[in-house]
Amino acid sequence: MSGVELEKSTTIDLRKKHIGPSCKIFFSHEPIKIVQAKGQYMYDENRQRYLDCINNVAHVGHCHPEVVNAGASQMALLNTNSRFLHDNIVLFAQKLQSTLPEKLSVCYFVNSGSEANDLALRMAWQYTGHKDVITLQNAYHGHVSSLIDISPYKFHQMSSYEMNPRVHVAPSPDVYRGKYRRDHPDPATAYADEVKDIIHKAEEKGGKIAAFIAESLQSCGGQVIPPWATSKKHVRKAGGIFIADEVQVGFGRVGTHFWAFQLQGEDFVPDIVTMGKPIGNGHPLSCVVTTREVAEAFMSSGMEYFNTFGGNPVSCAIGLAVLEVIEKEDLQGNALRVGGYLCSLLEKHKEKHPLIGDIRGRGLFVGLELVRDKHKLTPATAEAQEVIYRLKEQHILLSADGPHRNVLKFKPPMCFTKEDVDLVVEKIDNILTGIYPMHY
Ligand code: PLP
Repeated sequence: MSGVELEKSTTIDLRKKHIGPSCKIFFSHEPIKIVQAKGQYMYDENRQRYLDCINNVAHVGHCHPEVVNAGASQMALLNTNSRFLHDNIVLFAQKLQSTLPEKLSVCYFVNSGSEANDLALRMAWQYTGHKDVITLQNAYHGHVSSLIDISPYKFHQMSSYEMNPRVHVAPSPDVYRGKYRRDHPDPATAYADEVKDIIHKAEEKGGKIAAFIAESLQSCGGQVIPPWATSKKHVRKAGGIFIADEVQVGFGRVGTHFWAFQLQGEDFVPDIVTMGKPIGNGHPLSCVVTTREVAEAFMSSGMEYFNTFGGNPVSCAIGLAVLEVIEKEDLQGNALRVGGYLCSLLEKHKEKHPLIGDIRGRGLFVGLELVRDKHKLTPATAEAQEVIYRLKEQHILLSADGPHRNVLKFKPPMCFTKEDVDLVVEKIDNILTGIYPMHY
């Protein structure tokens, strides 16, 4: 280090010089330099406060004192790799499993959502002995090599991308702008029939389905609320298993249930559930939960599974504290109440604003799709970007996503309040009123 002069204050230019470009936000609008965060707020270097409507990683609120204390106390006592026996891993696994159907009884702790989905695929291949995977149009499951093929949202448009013949992409069950819409007599069955058809076509070519992997609610794909139950039946019949990716949407966010896959009904139990982001409230922690049957088949491969940091005492203490806070502060109930209020308020503005095409949500997972024409569904992409930009100027952080980048996504920390909703909706109302004449 001697002789190297370190520059203390970060700028976007220094970031570009020293860090690989990992996220488009750094190269679009000038990013905000965040120095502190609390609850649903983030603070920049000038002590300006921003209302965070997108940071689903700070699930129970940024820097929640009980989570911070749990991590700090455990760090002062012991942290080690997962080779040793310690209490936290068992206590956390037990608590986590108490939120899941009984059949999902074996946990594997990892450190990111991508690692979790990668491990889930390995398990599916090993358990079924099959190789083919069904994914969805506009899905995103992570950035590691094994997930590129099953994440069309980010990777399939790249000119260098070559389709993997073992991966089959089913249409995203978007009942607003997808192939089968709300006016279809039975969109759920129609989408499931597409999956059935894909299975047959794969089998005709000698393929066998190992897994159908799907986000329980599609997030990057535009806050889509899909029907899965019948698709799972077809996949099971073909000898494959169902992987529910809850990395974005688990842990009470949907309000009525702790897990978003439970929206499909009491009997709907995936074979593997992967989780990440909110599980550690910002601390790198993720998990794969599966059945004893799948876990035993996986271990019988003879391939040792070892993860140095997965399930370390500090991560598990933090994970346990997050679950306790969700319970103690009734954050799932809050998501139901505040998310419902957000949707109802947005609905009230729908008629007034020609740009509002669709409002869809479950709890604090809400999408507002902007269109230039309510019949043709022409995406209002530039307008959505304008809304995001103008909100940022007024210290509200929201994002726009979906294949056309025209869906405003709400995924705030779960301590979001009705007053926060009032503020954001009022600002969006004003912005939409202002930009409407620009286009008509
Ligand atoms: N699965 C979903 C649904 C995601 O949205 C993401 C990340 O955005 C991942 C998996 C990957 O998680 P990570 O970035 O922690 O590797």
